[in-house]
Amino acid sequence: MSDAETLFERIIAGEIPSDKVYEDETTYAFRDIHPQARVHVLVVPKKRYRNVAELAAADPGLLADVIAAAREVAVLEGISESGYRVVFNTDSDAGQTVFHVHAHVLGGEQLGLFGR
Ligand code: IMP
Repeated sequence: MSDAETLFERIIAGEIPSDKVYEDETTYAFRDIHPQARVHVLVVPKKRYRNVAELAAADPGLLADVIAAAREVAVLEGISESGYRVVFNTDSDAGQTVFHVHAHVLGGEQLGLFGR
């Protein structure tokens, strides 16, 4: 992992404004600036790992915290019953653009299939 700070460290630190949805000791959740669904929230661990693979290898407990926070977001957003999607874009072919692991929580409408 490079030491270069990403946008999400600055958001977590409050240096860049964000529309916060949920926060606990280890995670921070905020609305995506370019929503791809009626509900589109990003959940990030406060400690930085490059992607979900690095997080899973280094700290599975923290990965569990991120998934639990995604569930909290779904409850707070009223989509836990209707259903939602949790996505981790991982590196180049998946189009990851911010190299601080984040879960996309998507829902609030019928989601299409995805792939290409
Ligand atoms: P990725 O493509 O999986 O890395 O997702 C990065 C996400 O961050 C994209 O969905 C962007 O729309 C989102 N994003 C980029 N800048 C900001 C911001 O300043 N606030 C909230 N979301 C952002």
